[in-house]
This record gives sequence, C-alpha cells and structure tokens, in this order.
Amino acid sequence: MSIPDYKIDEVREATDVVDLISGYVTLKKKGQNFFGLCPFHTEKTPSFSVNPDKQIFHCFGCSAGGNVFTFLMRSEGISFPESIKFLAQRAGIQIEYDKKDEVRSQENEALYYVNEFAAKFFQESLQSKKGEHALKYLKERGLSSENIRVFGLGYAPPGWQSLITQAKNTSNDLELLHRAGLTLKKEEGGYYDRFRDRIIFPILNLSGRAVAFGGRKLSEKDDSPKYINSPGTSVYEKGKMLYGLFQNRDEIRKQKKSVFVEGYMDLLSLVANDIKNVVASLGTSLTEEQSRLILRYSKHAVLIYDSDAAGVAATLRGSDILLETGLDAFIVSLPKGDDPDSYVLENGTEALLKKIENAENFFDYKIQRSLEKPPENRREEVHSILESIARIKDAIQRSLIITKVSEQLNVSEKALWSDLAPILQQKQKGERRQSEIAKRLNDLGKTRKSGRGEKAVADLVRIMLHDWDLAEYIFASLDLAEVREVDLFPIVNYLKNQHKGGGRFSEKELNQQFNDVELTAFIVQVFNEDWQGLNLKRWATDCISVIHKEKIQKQIEGIREEIRLAQDSGQPVNDLLNQCMDLEAQKKTVIAEV
Ligand SMILES: [Zn+2]
Repeated sequence: MSIPDYKIDEVREATDVVDLISGYVTLKKKGQNFFGLCPFHTEKTPSFSVNPDKQIFHCFGCSAGGNVFTFLMRSEGISFPESIKFLAQRAGIQIEYDKKDEVRSQENEALYYVNEFAAKFFQESLQSKKGEHALKYLKERGLSSENIRVFGLGYAPPGWQSLITQAKNTSNDLELLHRAGLTLKKEEGGYYDRFRDRIIFPILNLSGRAVAFGGRKLSEKDDSPKYINSPGTSVYEKGKMLYGLFQNRDEIRKQKKSVFVEGYMDLLSLVANDIKNVVASLGTSLTEEQSRLILRYSKHAVLIYDSDAAGVAATLRGSDILLETGLDAFIVSLPKGDDPDSYVLENGTEALLKKIENAENFFDYKIQRSLEKPPENRREEVHSILESIARIKDAIQRSLIITKVSEQLNVSEKALWSDLAPILQQKQKGERRQSEIAKRLNDLGKTRKSGRGEKAVADLVRIMLHDWDLAEYIFASLDLAEVREVDLFPIVNYLKNQHKGGGRFSEKELNQQFNDVELTAFIVQVFNEDWQGLNLKRWATDCISVIHKEKIQKQIEGIREEIRLAQDSGQPVNDLLNQCMDLEAQKKTVIAEV
C-alpha cells in the first residue's frame, strides 16, 4: 500500500458514514441508528442499519457490514485504494497516487481516464463548428445549454479518425482507447472510431464518472443503426446501470417516485420539460439489477415505454421484474404511435405529468388489456395476470388483487385461487431449489478454502471479542504459526498484539482497523451476535482442540505421503509407520491436554 496511513486516517475522519451511504440508500433515523433497504440484497422491509457512532453499516438480512471504505468497495466494485481516492476527492483531500498499485485498479483508472478524455473531446466538438448541426438538433429538441452540460452531451465528428487523431495529439494510448470500446479494429491492422457523426450520450456511474457512451446518428442517409453503444468493459456492465440515475437520483428520492423510459432522448426530453425523476433502462428489457438499483431510491416506479408492440411487451416484462424485486409498478399508456418524447412535445409537460400522476396500477393495466379481448380469449390473459400475482411477495396484497381481478373479470375467486396454487408452488419450488443451490455452492466454497480449523479460528475470534478475559487462556494454548494461513489471521494477529501490550481492543477501532470487505463484515457481524448463557470457555477449549487436531492430521498426511514415496522406491518404512501411529495416538489425547 502506497497511500500513507495518516492520509487514510485523514480521509476516514473527513467522511461520515451516514452522509456517504445516504447517497446510495434512503435512510430513516430510528433511535441511535439509521435504517434503509439493503443495497446488497433484495428486501421489502429495511434491515440495513447504519451506526453513526461506530461509523459502520450492518445488514441483519444478509450479514453485509463494514466501514465507509468497504461499503464503497462493495457497492462500486472498486479496490481499497480506489475507495480512498474516491472519498479523498469527495472531501477535497489531496492524495499522491502511486502507479505501482494493483493492476485492476490501474486498468479501471486508465479506463476512467480515457473515457473522460473522450467525453471531453465529444463535448468540445459539439460546441465547435463541426458540431453545429448536432447542437442545432439538440436545441430543436428543446434541450437547454444547462441540460447539455449536466448530461455531458457531445458530438462525435464524421470520418474514421477524429477521436484517434485527437488521442494521438494528446499522447493517449490507442490500445487503451480500444479497450474502452471507443474504437474498432481494422482488418488490415490499426483502428477506426466507433462513433462517427453522432450525438454522444455519456453513461455515468454513481460516482459521476463516464464509463460508456451511446451515440445517435444524425444523418438519414446513414444506414447504420439509429443508436449504437459502447461494449461492456471492466468499468461498464450492461444491464447493471441506469442512464440518468447519477443526475436524477436526488429528484427520485425527493419525489419518492421513479419514471422509467427506454432511451436517451426520451429521458432528455422529459428532463428538458422539467420532469426530472427519470431513468432510462437502455435496451428494451429491464433487468433485476436495475430494479434493485432503483429500489435504493424509491419503491414506486412508473413505466412509460413506447406504445408499439415491442414497447408493450417490454412494459409487461419490466413490470414483472419490478414486482419481483419488491417495487410497486405503475404504467402510463401512450396513444398509438407515441413515445414519451413525441408525447411531451405535442402535449406539453402538464399533460404528461397528469398521466404520470394517474398512472395505472400494473394489475389494472393488465385487467384492462384482458377486458379488451373477447371473453372466449380471456383464459390466456387471466393466466398471465396470475403469473404476475405469483411474483408479489406480500400475501395480503396478493389476496386483494385476486379479489379485484375476480370482480372485474367476472371470474370466481375460488377458480382464481385454484389456478394460482400450482403457479405459486412451481415458483416456490424453483426459488427453494435456487436458494439451496446458492447455499450449497456457498458451503462448498467455504469447505474448499478451509477445513474445520478455519471455522475454529473464527469462533475463537468471536469468543475473544465477546469476552476479552478469555484472550489470556486462548493465546496461552494457541500457536499463532498454526493459524497463519487462515483468512482471519490479520484479526487474530491484531488481537494477539493488543493482548501482548496488555491493552484492550475498542470496538470502534477494530471496525476501522481493516479494509477487507470480508474481514470488516465479519467484525460487524460478530458484534451483533448475542450468546447470552453460552459457556464460552468450554467452546474455546473445543476450538483449540480442533485446531491442534487439524495440525496433527496435516502431519499425518505428510508422513503418509512419505510412506508412499518410500514404498515406491523400495525403502524401509518402519520408522515412518511408527511416527504415524504416535501421531494418531497424540490426536486422540488432544482433548485431555487442553
Ligand atoms: Zn442485506
């Protein structure tokens, strides 16, 4: 690590955990803590807590936990040095960055850098002579200079080498430009610009950094697709981001409502008309990740997709995903042939706001569609409604909707329930199987990485954190060299040093001591466990014997290997056999010794 400790401390001091996490999760104060919906798992009632006193977060649902740095590492998928840089920048603290840092972080940094360079080039081109027609187009669509600035809109000049030439002139790495998806490879070697004569929409991550671009063609003579996008890179995963979320998230939180549209221009057109709680899903199908992302800001989502068949299909699919993630889905249906952009252009802001205000509950929308069909064709529609109902997790809500469907479609509630039962069963079976698989994989991962010894070390740490008086006993019988390999070794080592110095540990200090996602989550978790009435000393004894046994077992395995080798080469093995038997005997007496 090349960033000095005092700098890290300075950054930590300058950052408040509630303030930081509020940018990601809507938090409500309850007693000493703040609560919100966990960003790391899907849930409907808040079990994610933030403690300003200890400067930590903890989820009672999925056991995520840690400090400001590990929160960022998890939610932004960045490394520890990146998280320091991020928070330093946020707090206005200067940090000298050592180029020898880990490769991935360096690659991501490089990608951010080259995307930033490209964004700037596109923005300048939009304001230059070359970009006149592009700027004119945007202004005609009602976008103000302020809108253009906030969304960083730009223009990619025509020709095959505009961005590349600029990159060469400013000594940017062409290979890097390519890795960022900004250029394509020529068959005969070399590169050419991916975006040519197009309006450019930078896609920003939640830290406001450009990670990808979308481009809309300007000339009707151009027979390439209307929109093209950057490919996925290590800083841009498709389907995991929402266009406009960085700029509009405060508005979404404030209005407690998000509006989903399909494309860049739909979003910008709404923003230009002062409707600012909008995001675009980019691509017709809304993903579960996007749905979970928006749930951090509000539970109420309104979908306004195109009125064509593809738009309707996307609405139905998207709403199902929203329901499943725990959001309330509402639909705005536009007149035939309209999209949000054209509608607001023709009818004005007030008309669209009214439509958003009166958006139909997803189930009303589905019932309505079904009523439009002749009664003999309704079976299929009813089945589709039941499939959506099965996605609702709340039983009361489910029952209310069944009643409504029954009344409006004139089908008996009993018939609906009996048709719903097999769908629910199927679904639950699927979910159970999925969670079983996830659990199994998780367990396998754990056992592969470590034997029982690892678990025993974890338990010893737990015990010491709960009853520091037992540290004396534990360290007297535990050889640190024996546990050097386990993941929790840094914590064991820290505690050992505290113990050696005759000191105690402070919970607050321990929470800030480590910057590994797993370690901090472990610590926060332990402090939230309650073992009233457990015999901790007895438990510690068991753990120590497990560790000793495992050590002996390893020695036995080593000797067995030697025996095999000796036998293969015709050497005597008696001594080795004796050693092996001694160890077996020793293993049996371990418990008595401790
Ligand atoms: Zn959680």
